Formats: sequence, structure tokens, C-alpha cells
Amino acid sequence: MQASTRITNILGGGSDGWDVFNKAREMIAAGTPVTELSIGEHDIRTAAPILQDMHRAAMAGHTGYASIPGVPALRDAVATRVQEQSGVATTRDNVLITPGGQSALYAAHFAVCDPGDTALYIDPFYATYPGTLRGVSAHPVAVQAHAQDAFQPRAEDIAAKAQGAKSLLVNSPNNPTGVVYTRATMEGIAQVCRDHDLWLVSDEVYDTQIWEGEHLSPRALPGMAERTLVVGSMSKSHAMTGSRIGWIVGPPEMIEGMINLATHTTYGVPGYIQDAALFALELGPTFEAEIAEPFRRRREIAHKVLSRQNAVSMVPADGAMYLMLDVRSTGMSGEDFAYALLEAHHIAVMPGESFGQAAGGHLRVAMTIEDSRFEQSLQTLCGFAESLIAKQ
Ligand code: PMP
Repeated sequence: MQASTRITNILGGGSDGWDVFNKAREMIAAGTPVTELSIGEHDIRTAAPILQDMHRAAMAGHTGYASIPGVPALRDAVATRVQEQSGVATTRDNVLITPGGQSALYAAHFAVCDPGDTALYIDPFYATYPGTLRGVSAHPVAVQAHAQDAFQPRAEDIAAKAQGAKSLLVNSPNNPTGVVYTRATMEGIAQVCRDHDLWLVSDEVYDTQIWEGEHLSPRALPGMAERTLVVGSMSKSHAMTGSRIGWIVGPPEMIEGMINLATHTTYGVPGYIQDAALFALELGPTFEAEIAEPFRRRREIAHKVLSRQNAVSMVPADGAMYLMLDVRSTGMSGEDFAYALLEAHHIAVMPGESFGQAAGGHLRVAMTIEDSRFEQSLQTLCGFAESLIAKQ
């Protein structure tokens, strides 16, 4: 018996980019301690009061099928939050609650692309993007952002591939680069979408992790609310990765369509998780800032460590929990450097190449370990780069 080509093609035949990560996991399993700067997950767990509320909700009987679009109070809370942040009028009819941002990305593309449609995305990209696009039988086409532009995508590069395309997927603050798109970048993106009649899928799951500048949702730009689907999640903002809760915000008729999709796929999100999510949102911005604080601190540490040497440079990390380090001065690819670092110093980072060709010769470092170990590991990484340059 044969599986469908749709499912066998999800990975697109190439490596899934996790080879260095898997090697590190093998070393750990064999008893070698490895410092992991590879995972995009907080080093804290979900806060106890949120878990207590989840328990309370479950004990109160919210364990049956829950409302598929999302319980009204949570849809309202998401709408209020999005409206306050973006200034765009938003009601519960604009909101679908999803089991995390990943399923929201899938649903959004399922909703905007027919089989064979070209779906654009920006390279460097979050590892699941091309597979998500192939998963809905779209044809993924990458638009490269460039290291010399600090990975801000150029509108003309997007326009050059937009003819006949159906959608564009963008992500700011960005995983893997840590870059926050400027207003000019977002305006350029919006212009291309209007000119070429593209849907815009805006992945904003890192919107609470802004270290410099401001988060601008492209849905707020002129003529964009009717063609934008915003993907949100509580994974990063509230350290709730395992609870699988997120949302899509978009035009009501698109939300209606995606409710039908949810009815035939996920059948919604557990009620006790939705209740806890509402409780967590009501903790407000102070709580969100507390969750983001360790990354803000570690970014400062990184600036300090990197300022003492010239071997490694950093792409301006204005948001998200990652640093993109440029190791091209060593003459090595990101992948070769990452393997060599793992071998020599038992430090695991992600090669830039795992996130597309545009990030070749770079490393993605997740700021997800305790401050002093983080500082020590970065020092070791820089020292290793210096030793490689000295050998050239
Ligand atoms: N988008 C980006 C850019 C991400 O980095 C992630 C998770 N690492 C997601 C979406 C999906 O997150 P989740 O499904 O946990 O909400």
C-alpha cells in the first residue's frame, strides 16, 4: 500500500535541518553532557497560577467537547488584545482559537491556497514553513532576505516572485534571525500584497519579545485587514508551549471557513486549556514582560561578550529568543562550524542553513539557558571561532 504523495512530500525530500540537533541528542543519550543553545523553548515552565486555573477548570467539569471556534470569552479576550495592540477594530468573529500557532499556520494556508498555488515565504524561515505549505498542496517559493540588509526582506525581491502567486508568509519578530521588521519593510510588504492581490499570513507569535523598536502588525496598514491572516500563540508569550493554544485573526468569512476546517480536523481546543489561556491573558502585559525578561537580559550579555572580540558578529537582534551569529570570517559553513563546535566543546547550536540558504555561514543561538552558562558558552563559541581563524 502506498501513502499519498501529499504526505510523503511534506519534507520535500531534503534534510529537515535538525541533524546537528539530533547528533547532540544522541551524545546526551550516550551520557555526554551537551549545552543546548538549539531549542526555542523557555528554560522556565508554565507558571503555577496558570496550571492551578487549568486544574480548577478541569475539576469544574470543562472536560467535554468545547466550543470549536473557541469559547466566547477567550475569543473576546484575543480580539481585545489584538485591537489594543494594532488599533484595528476586531471582534470575536475575527478570531478562531487553534491548538497552537503551528496548526494556525496550516489552517491559514489551507484557507487561502488551492492545490498547486504558489505560496511565497521569506528565507531565512522557521523550519516548518515549507513543509506546511507543501502540506496544503501549495507550491512553496522562497524569497531571500540578505545578510547585508540585516535580513529585512526587500519589497522588490518579493514583487519579482509575486506574479501569479496566491499568498505571502512573513514572520516578525523573526525566527531564526531575531530581526524585527521595520515600518518601511512592512509597508513595502503591504504594497506588494495589494499590487499583486496576495493574501498575507503574518506569523506574530513572538510579538511580546521586542527589545528594540516596535512591533507593527501589517494587518493595521491601509487595505490590509481584508487580506491578512494573523497567527498568534501563547507558547512564547506565556511559556505555554505544551498547552497547544493559539489563534488566527482575519476577516469573518475566512474565520467561518476555518471553523469548518477545525470541525473536520482538530474539533477545537480542550475547554480547560482555553479557560487557563483566558486566565493567563488576563494576567496582562506585566506578566508577559516577566516571561520575556530573561531573553532581554541574555541579549545584553551577548552584546557584552561579542564586543570583546572580532571573530563573530551578530545580526541586530531586536526581538525573539534567538541570536543570529555570523561566522563567515572562519571560512566555514554554519553547518560545519556547528558540527565542529559540538565535537570540540559539546555546545549545540543550529546551523543557519537549517533555516534556508540565505542564512548560510550563520548560526542560530537560542537564549534559552541560565545566564552564567549562556555567557560562558558564548565566550567559548567566540574563542573557538578565533582559533579557527588563527589556523587559516
Ligand atoms: N511560528 C514560529 C516563527 C515559531 O518559532 C513557532 C514555534 N517555534 C511557531 C510558529 C509555532 O509555535 P506553536 O505551535 O507552539 O504556537
